[in-house]
Amino acid sequence: MSTGADALTDLDDEQLAAVVVALGGKRFQARQVAHWLWKHGVEDFDDMRNVPQRLRDALRQRHRLRNSRLRAADLAADGTEKLLIELPGETDAPDTVECVIIPDGERTTLCISTQVGCPVGCVFCASGMFGVRRNLTSGEIAEQVLVARARLPAGRRLTNLVVMGMGEPMLNLDALLPALRRIHDPDGINLGARRITVSTSGYPRQMERFSEADPSYNLAVSLHAADDELRRELVPTASHSVAEIVDAASRYFGRKGREVTYEVVLLRGRNDRRIDAQALVDRLRQTPCTVNLIPWNPVEEIVATRDLARPDDHRVDAFAALLRQGGLNVTVRRQRGADRSAACGQLRLREA
Ligand code: SAH
Ligand code: SF4
Repeated sequence: MSTGADALTDLDDEQLAAVVVALGGKRFQARQVAHWLWKHGVEDFDDMRNVPQRLRDALRQRHRLRNSRLRAADLAADGTEKLLIELPGETDAPDTVECVIIPDGERTTLCISTQVGCPVGCVFCASGMFGVRRNLTSGEIAEQVLVARARLPAGRRLTNLVVMGMGEPMLNLDALLPALRRIHDPDGINLGARRITVSTSGYPRQMERFSEADPSYNLAVSLHAADDELRRELVPTASHSVAEIVDAASRYFGRKGREVTYEVVLLRGRNDRRIDAQALVDRLRQTPCTVNLIPWNPVEEIVATRDLARPDDHRVDAFAALLRQGGLNVTVRRQRGADRSAACGQLRLREA
C-alpha cells in the first residue's frame, strides 16, 4: 500500500535539496521547485516553468507532486465549504479526510485534519466513531491548504488556520510540526504563526513538545468538563486528569506568552448544568484564558444510538453568563454550515 511518502510535498527543504542534487540539479533549483509546490500550488511538473525540462522529467519519474486529490465539495448556504480529500490507500477503499473553508467577513479560516479517523473516541464526535485508520503524512496535512486555497474566489485568501478537523493533532506531531512549518514558511504559503491554532483533547507530554516548536502557534484545549469523572464519560480514553491538562496548558502560556483557549462542547443535561459552570470557574479562574462554548452539532449516527442532545440557545446563554459572572472570558461559537453536516467527520460518514 502506498503511504504517500514519495510525494514531493512530504520533503522538507533539506530533503528536497538532496533529491534535486542527486538528480543532477542545483540547490537553488530545489528552492525553485519548493516555490512552485507551495507558493504557486502547481499540480503538474510542467508548470514549473523555470525548472529545466530534464530535471522536471527526472523528478516526475521518481516522485509524485502531491499525495491527495479533491473527491467532493459541499457548499452550505452560509458559504462554508466542506472538502472531502482522498488520500493514497487501497484502491477499493481509499482513505479520506475532510477540511472546511469558513468565510466570515474579511476572515477566511481553514480547518484541517491530521489523522484518518481518531483514536480518542469522544462520545459526541463523528471522527472518533470508528477509531483511527492511520496518521496523515506531513505532506498530506499541508496539502489541504493547497487544495482549499485553489478553491477560493479571486480576492479571497486564507487568513487563519485551525487544526480542528479529524484526528488528535498531538498524536501525530512528527508530521504536524513540519507541515505547520511549511504552512508558515514566508517563501511558501506564508501564514503567520499567530493565525494558526492547534486544538487538542489534552496530552500533557505532547503539549510540552509542541511548546518547544518554533514559531509559536496558538493552543486550544478541548476540556468539556472540569470534573474528572464527567470528563472521562465524554472523553473515555482520557488518561490524564483535568489538573494535569490545565497545568500543561498553563506551562504553554508561560513559555509562549500565548493565552490558551479552552473549548467546551455543550451537551444538554450532561455538562451544561449550573454545577458544571461552577466547576469550570473554580478550575480556570486563576489562569489567563478564554473559554469557547460550542453547542453540540448533532451527528445523526450518534443521536440514534446515544442519549445526547444540543442545548437550546437560552441554556447556552445562561451557561455563558455563569462563566462570565465567575470572571472568565467567554465566546460562543456561532453555528456555521449547519445545513450540511458541519461537525467534523460528518461528510466522511455520508460519503463512506
Ligand atoms: N482532536 C482535537 C481536534 C479536533 S476536534 C480536539 O478534540 O480538540 C475539534 C473540536 O471540535 C473539539 O473541540 C471537539 O470537541 C469539537 N467537536 C467534535 N465533534 C463535535 C460536534 N459534533 N459538535 C461540536 N463540536 C464538536
Ligand atoms: Fe478525536 Fe477531537 Fe473527535 Fe475527540 S473531538 S474524537 S479528540 S477528533
